Amino acid sequence: MTTVDPRRRVPRTDVVLADTRLAAASRRLGAVAVKRVVHEAQAKVRSGDLDPSHLIDAVLRALPDRASSLRPILNATGVILHTNLGRAALSDAAVEAIKAASGYVDVEYDISAGVRTRRGSRAIDALLTRVGAAEDALVLNNGAAALVLAATALAPEKHIVVSRGELVEIGDGFRIPDLLASTGARLHEVGTTNRTHLADYQAALGPDTGFVLKVHPSNFTIEGFTSSVTVRELASLGVPVVADIGSGLLQPEPALPTEPDAATWLADGATIVTASGDKLLGGPQAGLILGRRDVVQTLRRHPLARALRVDKLTLAALEATVSGPANPTIRALRADTEQLRARAEALSHELAAHGVTARAVPSDGVVGGGGAPGLTLPGWAVELPEPFAVQLRLGRRCVVARLEHTRCLLDLRCIPANDDDELRDAVLAAATHLCEGHRTARPCT
Ligand SMILES: *Cc1c(COP(=O)(O)O)cnc(C)c1O
Repeated sequence: MTTVDPRRRVPRTDVVLADTRLAAASRRLGAVAVKRVVHEAQAKVRSGDLDPSHLIDAVLRALPDRASSLRPILNATGVILHTNLGRAALSDAAVEAIKAASGYVDVEYDISAGVRTRRGSRAIDALLTRVGAAEDALVLNNGAAALVLAATALAPEKHIVVSRGELVEIGDGFRIPDLLASTGARLHEVGTTNRTHLADYQAALGPDTGFVLKVHPSNFTIEGFTSSVTVRELASLGVPVVADIGSGLLQPEPALPTEPDAATWLADGATIVTASGDKLLGGPQAGLILGRRDVVQTLRRHPLARALRVDKLTLAALEATVSGPANPTIRALRADTEQLRARAEALSHELAAHGVTARAVPSDGVVGGGGAPGLTLPGWAVELPEPFAVQLRLGRRCVVARLEHTRCLLDLRCIPANDDDELRDAVLAAATHLCEGHRTARPCT
């Protein structure tokens, strides 16, 4: 008997790609992506791990769902703004707006007059409608960009006066003082870590002062013998006050009584307020500047503004977020505890009926993303045996759970109620990969 060289049995690439289903996949995902999966499957045939007659089926199974490799995740961590998971989840209205703006679109064009208009004017109008105290607004790439532009345009080779209690590291090793210093502005630190007084700011003011900066310490709290100076007091100093609220709340949010918002700080006398678009505002990544018309104009006309501007998709999503219905961030923030409990109990019962050890347990959510530190949001989770966490993460429908003391918790706060069936199916799929013992939290045999 002669053995056939396995390489002779590997279906040729052009023959495989001619299959109508793979040709359709190439049109949808791109030929390069499909070819890569075909080559991987051919390698398996060559090594004897795949029967050549199953090659096309194997390729179809392994093809990605879409041309981008970013994968949607069910966020069962209970952290509303999870930095690793892309912070704010967009509303359906924002997603629809992005889709509508994805082709040619009137982002700088007045359709009725047939002439050029200011880019993004509709998103700015939406912001000004929500924040009456703002005379004008500007949308940039992110919150850091807003600070960099303010420092560059308003304090060139001048001093930015800032409290030592507000020199914040925003994450991943990036620090607001370094960001500001990178523009060439000089920081004039005043006060101490725990206490800064109006007199400290007064003593620092001089002809070289560009502006006073107020930073909301968004990701930490200090307690005890502390004092800081309010925006209202800073506004009495007679120099511009740039106030970084971080979170992007446009109005006071009852669920977050200590979180600053743009309307209040502007009413208190801030010259401009800077914020992120993808934190508590619940929109796309963006940096917002709201405030006095002449100052916003100065920023808009600065050459750096062009380098920090946002694309049409961001403008579309931002407008839809600001003027549209409640977004997932706000809904998760205001989620009703009793409804969370009912969902956790219903899910647990369904899972238990399929032989999975599951029960509803109380679970505290948090805002996350460097927002509202120390605040816990009482909610409910489905508790599963620990081994589920890895299987859920690696499953086709990726679920990121919270691990707590060897328990796998599926916190329902950040999962829209109409995704509960998908979550259940993901748990059941994960269960098929776990042995009896792991599924039921008994020792594995
Ligand atoms: C998050 C944050 C920033 C940075 O905003 P990005 O949108 O992440 O660039 C700046 N200041 C404060 C107070 C923040 O909380």
